[in-house]
Formats: sequence, structure tokens, C-alpha cells
Amino acid sequence: MKNNGIGISTFTWIITEDCNCRCKYCFVDKNPKKSNIKVGKAMIDWMFDPEISKDDKDLQLTFFGGEPLTEFDLLKEIAIYGREKSKKTGKNISYSITTNGTLLSGERLDWILNNDIGILFSIDGKKEFHDKYRVFADGKGSYDRAVEDLDKLLQAKPQVVARMTYAPDTIPYLFENYKFLLEDLHFQSCAPTFATDPYTELNEDEIKELDKQFKLIGDYEINRAKQGKKIAFNYIYKGIRQILVNKKLPSPCGAGKKYLAIGTEGGIFPCHRFTSWPEWELGNIYSGYINQELRDKCGKFNCEINEDCKKCQVLFCGGQCLASNYVNYKDITKHSQSNCAVASLQFQVAKRVYEEMKNDEQFMGQFRKFQKKDFKKSEITLGEIKKMLEEQNIILKNIAKVILDLAEDK
Ligand code: SF4
Ligand code: SF4
Ligand code: SF4
Repeated sequence: MKNNGIGISTFTWIITEDCNCRCKYCFVDKNPKKSNIKVGKAMIDWMFDPEISKDDKDLQLTFFGGEPLTEFDLLKEIAIYGREKSKKTGKNISYSITTNGTLLSGERLDWILNNDIGILFSIDGKKEFHDKYRVFADGKGSYDRAVEDLDKLLQAKPQVVARMTYAPDTIPYLFENYKFLLEDLHFQSCAPTFATDPYTELNEDEIKELDKQFKLIGDYEINRAKQGKKIAFNYIYKGIRQILVNKKLPSPCGAGKKYLAIGTEGGIFPCHRFTSWPEWELGNIYSGYINQELRDKCGKFNCEINEDCKKCQVLFCGGQCLASNYVNYKDITKHSQSNCAVASLQFQVAKRVYEEMKNDEQFMGQFRKFQKKDFKKSEITLGEIKKMLEEQNIILKNIAKVILDLAEDK
């Protein structure tokens, strides 16, 4: 058996490590390799192999880089090949890209829109802040090119997520940039991330400033929520979801569980950020076999092996990004204290928004699907079910009694 663990349904392919930009905080290899058609087709065949995806019917593939749109023809050919495979096997396949947006125009944009490709769009906020870090190879800022066709994109696909990266010196402008993304560029959802490479521990003043910025974002989200708008800041969303589920995430993500990444040469890794570390290669798509023991190091990771995580009240963290932990400490289980402080601030904001809005039915509607899903999955005991039925029974008996009493009064 090629896959001795659970079926894999979510994949990322490093189609190229090359990029037309040179962002100052980029973690991608500076000696870029590119993938090719042979790897792409073998990867699709491997993904659809019943031993790999098992009973999973819906497969999801993200094209990642570098900048995936520098390899647009290859991307298109593999996406088409995947759809043909889908027709033959009866399994579905959906696609997404993570892009800097600078090549998302003309024929490429039309194709992406016509082929229902999901998009995570890297943009840091106002031009002056975006251009500080997100530059082309010649050192010029990439903002103007990135937003050139953004209106057309967001009109057709309002669900595109803005990936906003912030660094220590842009923390004081976090709220300003976030608000700009929503109000001026018209994104409806934003996934912020702290620039982790080169790694920086935040100092006390930076954490205080971050607290101030998150509080402003929290106030802003409450205001928007009262106007009937959905949560746009993804950590607030995740926080509220976990509060409702009332369960702590044991790990930060699906790396090594139902999610794996494929490198440019066909190597298999726990996630896209592990692809430059040969010691994390779980196998390759040609033999198809996955080193289950190595996969489980990520897939079965449980943050509660750490004493501080065991006591921690931050429900959505799961012990921080395993790849960042590895970059910083060469150990996926070891996390940074300043990242804990950031997670804790974000969770406090999520709690405040929840407390303020929990009785607003329209607002809570956006979380209903998670409540239902987790109810199905929850370990509810037979005793609890019996008790619920008894309670229902008492209510029904009371209703029947009232009806009878009314009938007798007549
Ligand atoms: S756009 Fe992405 S891959 Fe390209 S340099 Fe910037 S962070 Fe790196
Ligand atoms: S915030 Fe820190 S202590 Fe809490 S779960 Fe995350 S890594 Fe563990
Ligand atoms: S290990 Fe980090 S980068 Fe990889 S999927 Fe998890 S959270 Fe994302």
C-alpha cells in the first residue's frame, strides 16, 4: 500500500520556485528550480490513485511558487489534464493559485476567471507600505502592476482573499492597511501574516503596538458586523469558530494529514514550506510511496506535548506553523514566545467580537455550518442523546397537556 495513512485530498504543487518579484521577506529558494509537464502529469496520476486519495471524492490542488503565473502555459495544461482525469475517474478536482497579482491580467486573468480557479492574492495594503517590501527584480515597487486589473478580478470573484504580510516596521500601520484593503480595494476577506523569514522576535514595544492595532481592527469588525457585514479578518473568524466548537486545535493546519505538497521535481513533502528541506521528503510521485513515519511527525502533531500549550487558552493556534518552528529552531514542536503573544492578542480580539455579537442571529449565521459539522463529528455519548430525548419528551408532554386543558375548557 502506497499510503498507509488517511486519504489525501488537498495538494500544493510548487510549479516553479522562480518569481518576477524579489520581496524582501520572501522564503522561497534563491536558486530557483522549475517543474515540468512530466512531473505535472505524474503528479495528477498519483493524486487520483485510489491508494493515495482513497475514498476522498473531492480533490483540491493549489499552484504555488515562486509566482505560479510565470509558468502559465504549464499550469493551464496540467489543470486541463486534471479535469480530463476527473471525468475518467469520477473524482472531482478544484484548483487555486497563490499569486502576487502582477501577471494577473489579459489572457491569464480571463482564463483564471473562466475556469473557476480560487485565488489567494498577496497584497500588503497602501502603495507606500506594499512597495517597501514587495518589489520587482529591479527594485521597483510592484503595487501599481498588482492592482491594475484588481477591480475586474474582484467584481467577478469577490471571494478572493487578500494575503497581507506585515513586518515589525509596518505594525503601526496594520489597521490602516487592513481598512484600505477592504474599503479602497474592496476585498471582502483578509488573511494577515507576520513576515517570518528572516525570523524576528518581536520586542515589548512592538507587541504593545500590535495589541493596539488588533484592538482597532476588533472595533472596526464590530462596527461592520452591526451593519450586517461578515467578518473579514480571518483570525477573528477562526477564533470565533473555535469558541463555538469549544475545542482546542491540536495542530495549526492539515500538513501531513489530508494535505501534502509536491516539489518541482516530484518529491512529496508535508506542506509547501517544507519543499526546500530534503530531510522532509516523504517519497516521490513516481514510486508513489509515502514514508508514513515521517508524515506522522506533522500529521499526528499535538501541541499539548508542550506544557505551555497544554495550559494555553488560545483555541485556534495549535502550536504555531510547524514550518516556522522548523526554520527558527530546527524543531517543529518548539514555538516562539513572541508568536504566542501575537496569537493570544488575536484570540482576545476574537473573543471580544464574539461577546459583542453572539446574540445577533444574522451575524452568527456565518458560523452555522461549522457548528453543524462539528456537532456531527463531536463525541456525543449515548447517555447525552438519551437525556436530550427525555428533555424533548417532557416538552412534548407539556404541550400535549396544554392542548388537552384548552380542549377541556371549551
Ligand atoms: S511574490 Fe511571493 S514568491 Fe515572489 S518574491 Fe514575493 S513573496 Fe517571494
Ligand atoms: S499560543 Fe503558544 S502556548 Fe498557546 S497554543 Fe499557541 S504555541 Fe501553544
Ligand atoms: S506547517 Fe505552516 S506553512 Fe505548512 S501548512 Fe501548516 S501552517 Fe501552513
